[in-house]
Amino acid sequence: MPDCAAPGYRSPGGGRHRHGPGPVMANTRDRTPTAGTAAPEFAVESRGLTKVYKASAGYPEKMALDTVDLAIPRGALFGLLGPNGAGKSTFINILAGLVNKTAGTARIWGIDIDKDPRNARSAIGIVPQELNIDPFFTPRELLELQAGLFGVPEAERQTDAVLAAVGLSDRADAYARTLSGGMRRRMLVAKAMVHAPPVLVLDEPTAGVDVELRQQLWSHIRALNERGTTILLTTHYLEEAEQLCDRIAIINHGKVIACDTTVELLRRLDRKELAIILAEDLADLPAGLDGFNVELANPRRLVFRYRPSQTRIRDILSAVRGSGLTIADLTTHEADLEDLFLELTRNAPDRENDG
Ligand code: ADP
Repeated sequence: MPDCAAPGYRSPGGGRHRHGPGPVMANTRDRTPTAGTAAPEFAVESRGLTKVYKASAGYPEKMALDTVDLAIPRGALFGLLGPNGAGKSTFINILAGLVNKTAGTARIWGIDIDKDPRNARSAIGIVPQELNIDPFFTPRELLELQAGLFGVPEAERQTDAVLAAVGLSDRADAYARTLSGGMRRRMLVAKAMVHAPPVLVLDEPTAGVDVELRQQLWSHIRALNERGTTILLTTHYLEEAEQLCDRIAIINHGKVIACDTTVELLRRLDRKELAIILAEDLADLPAGLDGFNVELANPRRLVFRYRPSQTRIRDILSAVRGSGLTIADLTTHEADLEDLFLELTRNAPDRENDG
C-alpha cells in the first residue's frame, strides 16, 4: 500500500518525512486544547477511514472513502490531490465534523474526533471554497465576529496579526465589498485562523483563480506554513501540488493510490522525453536507432522516450550522430505530476498495492 500510514500501523516504515521536530505555531497559545501537551508527530492521522453515503433520491449507495490511512506530519504543507469525485471533500468534511464517517478513526493534533470532538475541531481551521463574505463588514469586524463565535476572549484575540499574516493589514477597515477576489480568499484564510488552530485546511484554494492571483495565494500559504502552521490543501491542480506541497497523497475513487514526498514521487516516475529536430527530412528510422524507444513524429522530428536512470542523453545523441543525422535543435520534457497521476490512476481500482 502507499506509504501514508503512521509508523506502527499497517505500514511499519510509513510516515517518514523531512520535517524534524518542526516549528510550533507561534500563536498556538495557552487557550488551545493542546496547551501544555507535547506537539504530536502527526498533525492529522486517519486509520481505515471509510465513508459510505447511503442511497437516496435515486442515487445509489456510494463509497466515497475506502479505508484511508493518512499521516500528515506536523509542519507539513500537504497536498491531497485527486480528480473531482475522488473523495477529497469527504475527507476534510469528516475532519471538520460536517460529515459522519462510516468506519475508521481520525485524529487532529493527536485528538480523536469521536472521543473529543470539541477540542479536535478547535485544532483545525477550514478554509472553504466559496467566497461567502458579508459585504457590509470590514475585515477587522469580520474577524472579531468570528473570534466571538469561537469564544476567543478579547484579550487573546490577534486580529491585527492574523490580518498581517494574510497581507490584509492595509484593508483592515475597508468594507468587504471593496475587496478583490484574491483579498476575499485571503479573508477566508484569516477567518479560519482566528482561533489559532495549528492545522489549516484549504479546500481547492485557487480553483477558478487567475495565474497571477494563484502565485500570490501560494506565497501566502507558504508563509503561513513557514511560520509553523501545518497545512493540508485539496487540489485537482497538479501544478499546484507540485509547486506548493512537500508531501502529496493522490486519491482516486476514495482510495489513496500514492503518498510520498513530492521529490520522491517525481523521482519514481523516472521518465523523460527528448525531441530532436533534424536539419534534413528523414523518410525512415535508421537501423542505428533500433534499441531506443523512438518515434519519427514528422520527417524532421525524432522523439525519444527513456528512463534517465537507465539511458544517458549523450548515448542517444551519439547514436543519432552515428546514424549520419544532423541535429538542428533539441528539447527535453521531464515527466511532471500530470504524467504520474495518469500513470497511477489509469487502473487505480486494481492497483491499490502500488506505491
Ligand atoms: P471530491 O471532493 O474529491 O470532488 P467528494 O468527496 O465531494 O469528492 O465526493 C466523493 C464521492 O462521493 C463522489 O462520487 C460524490 O458524488 C459522492 N458524494 C459526495 N457527497 C455526497 C452526499 N452528500 N451524498 C451522496 N454522495 C455524495
